[in-house]
Amino acid sequence: MNRPPREIDLRIDARWVIAVEPGGVLERHALIVDDGRIVALCPQHDADAAFAAAARVACDEHVLIPGLVNAHTHAAMTLLRGVADDLPLDTWLERYIWPLEARYVSAEFVRDGVELAVAEMLCGGVTCFNDMYFFPDATAAACDAAGMRAMLGLPVLDFATAWAPDAEGCLQRGFEARDRWKHSALLVFALAPHAPYTVGDRTWGTIVTYARQLDLPIQTHVDETRLEVEKSLVATGETPLARLDRLGATGPGFIGIHCVHVDSAGIELLARQGCHVVHCPASNMKLASGVAPVAAMLDRGVNVALGTDGAASNNRLDLFSEMRLAGLLAKVVSGDAAALPAATLLHMATLGGARALGLDRSIGSLEVGKAADVVAVRFGDPETLPVFDPRAHLVHAAGREHVSDVWVAGRHLVNRGVLTTVDRGAVAARARSWQSRLR
Ligand SMILES: [Zn+2]
Repeated sequence: MNRPPREIDLRIDARWVIAVEPGGVLERHALIVDDGRIVALCPQHDADAAFAAAARVACDEHVLIPGLVNAHTHAAMTLLRGVADDLPLDTWLERYIWPLEARYVSAEFVRDGVELAVAEMLCGGVTCFNDMYFFPDATAAACDAAGMRAMLGLPVLDFATAWAPDAEGCLQRGFEARDRWKHSALLVFALAPHAPYTVGDRTWGTIVTYARQLDLPIQTHVDETRLEVEKSLVATGETPLARLDRLGATGPGFIGIHCVHVDSAGIELLARQGCHVVHCPASNMKLASGVAPVAAMLDRGVNVALGTDGAASNNRLDLFSEMRLAGLLAKVVSGDAAALPAATLLHMATLGGARALGLDRSIGSLEVGKAADVVAVRFGDPETLPVFDPRAHLVHAAGREHVSDVWVAGRHLVNRGVLTTVDRGAVAARARSWQSRLR
């Protein structure tokens, strides 16, 4: 006698599925989801007999991929999008961004900015982001309300900000926020000293101690500009990354953001210590910081993820465009058209990001047992036809405008382009109100 079909929550039938791990492209498969997790990925005709789904979504001209991981951003800075452009990093930060933040940043600013960022990222297929910004409890509340997954970096700077008077205040307020939200299923935390040049040795020592005691990752901007590296060499005789290594900050829990100006000794250090790197090509190009040696880092076995950085230096939170830019940049600087192929870029934007955040056991690929963080991308428009290789299409032909559906932990957060948990009109109205206040 045949067994009755197993009752499950959701079945998604797709023309193509790219699980990322294992690699390759599956055709006409069904992704089976129950209680927020992937329970099977099988040919559609096999699913008919095996499963009875409470809900079924047909993605007949779509590719299913794991949710994209934006491994570095400052989500609330969407409210500063386009406020100061065409400037190098030091001028941009010191003359524009820091004074604006000192004047305007508050819990309300962060909540409104993060809601805007979450709306933008979800519609663009990003299901998890790694944040570094003030008022992380406001970020947590906005993520919780939307059903968005995130790693929240508790920001630390040695000088007074809208968030805290000094590094000690940053840590105290950060830990209070973590205590309030640490049991949330979708949120994890990291320590986020802003950069080697804004945090002194004593504070780095404290951060390293906390990271070990609490088993928290450390994320920081490092070796971002030539000027940063030169100033550090003059002051200490070491590159910023070498200094952090001497202070005990590097290791498998270390996320180095940018790493544009790492030399071969720096790449060796990153590999030896098992560090992760977040490559942010658009931000690095826009601030004229340079080009990170991504192909060399990957060749040496360093895990490299992709990030957008904040909307004030990008100005979009768009992982599709980061994949494409990362690929094109790697090809042009190496003179090798084979550098960073589409499968590698998709891996960086999904499992690479998950690994950097220490979440690769639960997200980053469409494997049985993992959370159902899933994105459907439609290849039905003139600009995405015909389709020979869906992976190359994701990177070089499609864009975030082709994302149709998004699930986080099995929850349908974007349904045929419509946000289900975020009030798009209200978010837009609040963004416009900040536009007049910031003027
Ligand atoms: Zn940044």
